[in-house]
Amino acid sequence: VFQLSVPLNFLGSVYRELRQSLLDMETLFNLQKVNVAIKEPENAKPLMLAGGGIKFENVSFGYRPDRPILRNLNLEIPAGKKIAIVGPSGCGKSTILRLLFRSYDVQGGRILIDGQDIRDVQIESLRKAIGVVPQDTPLFNDTIEHNLKYGDLEASPEKVEAAAKRAKVHDIIQKFPDKYATMVGERGMMISGGEKQRLAIARLLLKDPPFLFFDEATSALDTHTEQALLGNINSILKEKARTSIFVAHRLRTIYDSDVIIVLKDGVVAEQGTHERLVDSGGVYSELWSAQEMLFIDEEQEKSEEKKR
Ligand code: ATP
Repeated sequence: VFQLSVPLNFLGSVYRELRQSLLDMETLFNLQKVNVAIKEPENAKPLMLAGGGIKFENVSFGYRPDRPILRNLNLEIPAGKKIAIVGPSGCGKSTILRLLFRSYDVQGGRILIDGQDIRDVQIESLRKAIGVVPQDTPLFNDTIEHNLKYGDLEASPEKVEAAAKRAKVHDIIQKFPDKYATMVGERGMMISGGEKQRLAIARLLLKDPPFLFFDEATSALDTHTEQALLGNINSILKEKARTSIFVAHRLRTIYDSDVIIVLKDGVVAEQGTHERLVDSGGVYSELWSAQEMLFIDEEQEKSEEKKR
C-alpha cells in the first residue's frame, strides 16, 4: 500500500499542477509565443487594484527589430469602462492585449495599471486579474463541465450553469448526449467554432476577473446570437463596473463602447465615442458606412431568401 501511495500521490500532484497550468493557459493565448525572458523584480508586490484603470505611456514594441508594431503609443483606458480597439488587420490590436498580459514586454515607454508599472508587480497577480477570450480558444479533452471550470475550479454546478446561460450555451449543452458531462476535444465530441466561442465566454464569466479582454470573441456567431450574447456581457460589465477591452472587426459589435480607439500604423489615429467618430468623418466613419452597406445588403438577401 505504501509503495503504491507514493507514486499515486505524486501523480495526483502532477495532475493538480497540470490542471493549474491549464487554468493559466485559458488566459495565456498564444502560449507558444510567450517569451520566457519575462521576469519580475525580487521585491515585486502583488498588483493592487483601485478600479482598474490602464494607461499606455509612449509604448513602443515590435516582434522584430526591423518591424515596429506600436510607435510611442499613448492610451488611456478609464477604470470600469468598455473600450474597443479597431483598425486594419495586423496593426497590433491583439499585441496590445499580449503586452498587458506580459506575454511580451514593451521596448519603450511603460504600461500602468492603477498607477503601477506592470513590470514591477508579481506576474502571477497580474495574470490572475486578467481574463481573455482569445481568437481561438483551446478546449481540453475533458467534459464540458471541467472545460468551463478551468475558469473557477471550485464553482458549484449551479454557478457553472448560470455562466453557461449568460453565455447562451446552456441550451446547446442540454442537447449534448451527456449534457455537462459530455466529453469534448480531440477525443470527444466535435464542437463548432461558435459553440467554442460561447464556452470560452462562459469560462471567462465563471472566472470573473477584474479585466476582461475579448479578441474577436464572437466572430463565429450569427448576428442574432451575437447581439443577445453581447447584451448579456454588457450588463455584467456594467453591473460589476469591470474594465473591458474588445478587439473587433465588425463595428456593430462595439459601437456602444465608452471609447473606441482606432489604431493605424502603430499609433492612435482617432478615438472617441461612436457618435463623435461618425460625425468627424474620418477612418472610422468610412469603415462604419462601408460595413453598414454590407450589413443592409446581407439582411435584404436574407429576407428575400425567406420570402422565396
Ligand atoms: P488581426 O486583426 O488580423 O487579428 P491585429 O491587429 O490583432 O491583427 P497583431 O496580432 O497584434 O495584429 O499583430 C501585429 C503584427 O505583428 C502582424 O503583422 C503580425 O503578423 C505580427 N506578429 C504577431 N505575432 C507575432 C510574432 N509572434 N512574431 C512575429 N510577428 C508577429
